[in-house]
Amino acid sequence: MAIIIPLLLSIIKYLNKILFKFQCFLIHRFMSNLPSDNPIAEQYRTMQVDDFPIIEKRELLDHKVLLQQYLDTHGKPLKPINHRSSNLPPKGTTCPICNAPYEYIYDNSGGRGQLKCKVCHSTFFPHKSYLEKLVFKCPHCRHTLTKKRDRKNFFVYSCQNRKCSFYLQNIASLTPEQQADFNQNPHKYKMHYYHRVFDIELDSLKQEPNKPHSVDLSRIRKAKYVLGLALTYHINYGLSLRQTASILWDIHRIKISHQTIANYAASAARILKTYVDDYPYDLSSQVSICGDETYVKVLGKKHYVFFIMDVVKKIITSYEVFANRDGISAIKAVYATLAKFRKIPENLVLIFDSNPIYLLAQHFFAQHNIHFDVKQVIGLTNNDEVSAEYRWLKQVIERLNRTFKAVYRGKNGFNSLERANEYMVLFVAFFNFLRVHSSLNYNVPVCVPEIANMPDMPSKWLELLRLSYEHICRHQHIT
Ligand SMILES: [Zn+2]
Ligand SMILES: [Zn+2]
Repeated sequence: MAIIIPLLLSIIKYLNKILFKFQCFLIHRFMSNLPSDNPIAEQYRTMQVDDFPIIEKRELLDHKVLLQQYLDTHGKPLKPINHRSSNLPPKGTTCPICNAPYEYIYDNSGGRGQLKCKVCHSTFFPHKSYLEKLVFKCPHCRHTLTKKRDRKNFFVYSCQNRKCSFYLQNIASLTPEQQADFNQNPHKYKMHYYHRVFDIELDSLKQEPNKPHSVDLSRIRKAKYVLGLALTYHINYGLSLRQTASILWDIHRIKISHQTIANYAASAARILKTYVDDYPYDLSSQVSICGDETYVKVLGKKHYVFFIMDVVKKIITSYEVFANRDGISAIKAVYATLAKFRKIPENLVLIFDSNPIYLLAQHFFAQHNIHFDVKQVIGLTNNDEVSAEYRWLKQVIERLNRTFKAVYRGKNGFNSLERANEYMVLFVAFFNFLRVHSSLNYNVPVCVPEIANMPDMPSKWLELLRLSYEHICRHQHIT
């Protein structure tokens, strides 16, 4: 016994080490699209998000005044651009700073999108011009941030002030060895304040509603009850497509291939999506919107389901599957939830795990004047201790994950991201409208009387589909 205990302890230590390395690997993998700027300490390298910058409106200029000044100084008018190069600015582009017309705008980056104004010399991206109208200032020293570089999905702004308290504090926190290394290899350390601005349009987050003609409804009408049965077995009971086909034959003597069921499911998802997304949910106004990510496989590769839910009313508000676990995915997931509020409540708080991508999302929306608070709870989704205040949230999230995994177990992954997202629509339609919860006194989260009046689950699915189809038709009438 005396020998075994130290041996066990050393094994546990060894396993812990492996686990830590694995966590580091995961963090690096998930955060791989973040800038590789090296923060102070290596272990926080990919996790650090600096405070939100101060944003002010930039003083705008008048091109007419500037052109007159040019004429006065040079004795001749400023010549417009001879637009003969192959990289022309998009038609109708004007300068966001001085409002100079198209004739004075030219390509400044060999076709990579950056334009320049000949009148005021501003550079800008035509679809990002709102950024040019803003000045980003360091929250620590109020120095204007310098745009350091453009990355694929965002810009990086940094405070270059060497007297900035943030910078000085970081320098002071280095050990003598780090200090020596820093003097040799300054590029390895991220000492300055920096901020990322996402290259994404708020409007681009709005999804186009489905067109009913993209769905073969006649087939569904013919199949009617069979469709309801198939969805019940496949989604409510988590049977695979093959098991569903098999049970339909064994119990109901209905001959239908698993491929036909897959087609039905895809069509149903396309009809249900608009209803699930547009439904006027009555969400809780208190602190109860909580997010968590889980994963599914698409072509054998891990993809991420961003679940956000009203944990009191058990309504899932975001459920999209993304290829990456990054800031853009977080922005899209948060957007889907915000869009489900009739009016975004004041003092809205969203609760997530400690992943910094949610802070980035918060910054993105703040930039568009949409404000909410983000509370990050360490241990919400893993085995760490979580404070008593949030333990109940952890339990709700774990229950959602269990329900999802039970339904998902019948799937051997997906062969495309589109299929994965169709599946999520079906799962959420089931979860929000059809599944009873013990914590809701065996009621469904969203009670629709027409569905509640149906005698059995297949009929409830069909009623949900009918309501969704009606909703699409109405939507098309109005728009
Ligand atoms: Zn200009
Ligand atoms: Zn600063």
